[in-house]
Amino acid sequence: QSATFENGSKRKTIVILGSGWGSISLLKSLDTSQYNVIVVSPRNYFLFTPLLPSTPVGTVELKSIIEPVRSIARRSASEVTYFEADALAVDPTKKTVHIKSVGEKDYETDLSFDYLVVGVGAQPTTFNIPGVDKYSSFLKEISDAQDIRLKVMNSIEQAALLEQDDPERARLLSFVVVGGGPTGAEFAAELRDYVDQDLSKWMPSISKEIKISIVEATPHILSMFPQNLIDYSQDLFTKGGIDLRLKTAVKKVDETTIYAENRDTKEMESIPYGVLVWATGNAPRPVAKNLMEQLGPEKQNSRRGLVINDKMELVGAEGSIYAIGDCAFYPGLFPTAQVAHQEGDYLATVFEKLHKIDQLKFANESINDANKIKSNNTKIDKLYKKIDKFHYHHYGSLAYIGNEQAIADVTVNGYSFKGAGAMTFLFWKSAYLGMCISLRNKFLVAMDWCKVYFIGRDSSI
Ligand code: FAD
Ligand code: NAD
Repeated sequence: QSATFENGSKRKTIVILGSGWGSISLLKSLDTSQYNVIVVSPRNYFLFTPLLPSTPVGTVELKSIIEPVRSIARRSASEVTYFEADALAVDPTKKTVHIKSVGEKDYETDLSFDYLVVGVGAQPTTFNIPGVDKYSSFLKEISDAQDIRLKVMNSIEQAALLEQDDPERARLLSFVVVGGGPTGAEFAAELRDYVDQDLSKWMPSISKEIKISIVEATPHILSMFPQNLIDYSQDLFTKGGIDLRLKTAVKKVDETTIYAENRDTKEMESIPYGVLVWATGNAPRPVAKNLMEQLGPEKQNSRRGLVINDKMELVGAEGSIYAIGDCAFYPGLFPTAQVAHQEGDYLATVFEKLHKIDQLKFANESINDANKIKSNNTKIDKLYKKIDKFHYHHYGSLAYIGNEQAIADVTVNGYSFKGAGAMTFLFWKSAYLGMCISLRNKFLVAMDWCKVYFIGRDSSI
């Protein structure tokens, strides 16, 4: 990309941090011919997170739900630069971002920006509960799914070596999910399916001994859904043999045991585990926390993330830094793919208007005609006013609850639908297939589902 346009005006640089739902939605909608666009992310692919809980047990293969950043960038109007690197720190005054390459050697550099979009997502929260970081698996990235798969397979194989009445065998076959939000519930449902539908064929005796538990601090799992759908799900889970330990808050974890407090009796319970999956929500990433600290507690006063205004501008760095997705906080907007996607799309429309404004400002610098300058200024004012506030449209929620059933609380084209069961599962499947980012992803996911239907899941590592 040349540094200037044909008329001599400067081509401004947008640095986009992250390659998740927010950043990639922005990249896909942005007119990249209007800017120098640089994407920085340690992950050189987009990950379709809604199907991540299906991957540790092989319902869907990992390769089917990722799309390389460069392949997405290649489809843009103009060249996009991608750096596989972590953003370590942002300097809002100098307008630079310090980045470090991913890999064996560390290469570090500073990038200058006119506009920065922070879309770095969030990291799993542990609430600093002792032992969680050391002994649990999370379910956020591809590597987490691989880690869980390995642990589940190893635990089963190790248990097979022990006598049936050995308590160690029972421990190894106890799979515990902490957090009954959608991540934890969907993963537990997938694990139950794997054990019942596939493992039971290879290892019938062991499959009967496997115990899956969800430990949830509040009285319900899947609390974002209406009560009747929560009841339906909890019923299905219990009937399917998933042990729901509600009103139970984990306080400590060691190598073999979870220690949790029952919120009614205040008694501590010990839950031995072979595999522990921790899914208790999000916490800000270090780069976001660092930026919040630099801007100060008066402007950045949320523990949930970077405080933004209704135009996605970072409070304290308006006009140059924007934040979208899970790393950002705005009242009423939740950390979901749906929100991040709409924010990314919205920001592309903002940058389109800002480009027009920049062009008019540049034209004003080279003309002497006062009337023309006045008319351009009027256009500039109008364009600024046209930068609408972000309006979020909530389409609803979907979740897989196992045994080929799903729950849905959605509104499509003005029609509301709340349902549960096998038909809802078909709707869930078609919705997620439709949302996959590329034709390649849609095809691979559909093939994976067919494969599971006809020949079952792959239980190798
Ligand atoms: P992400 O998609 O997490 O992307 C963040 C990006 O930033 C990544 O590319 C990451 O590598 C990059 N990054 C991290 N650190 C740095 C750094 N220092 N510098 C530069 N880049 C960095 N939401 C729904 O609406 N529906 C669902 O069905 C659903 N299912 C989910 C299932 C699971 C298992 C999980 C974990 C989440 C699910 N979500 C769902 C939530 C949804 O995935 C998130 O809300 C969404 O990914 C947020 O998008 P994002 O762009 O903010 O962050
Ligand atoms: P979450 O915040 O939705 O749920 C975390 C759960 O963990 C809560 O129910 C909380 O009470 C529980 N918890 C917290 N500390 C605990 C403790 N010490 N002991 C026991 N339980 C504890 O987290 P999530 O499920 O990871 O979801 C994160 C975000 O991603 C949410 O915004 C969610 O809506 C979104 N998401 C959506 C879908 C979907 O739409 N199908 C799927 C996955 C994630």
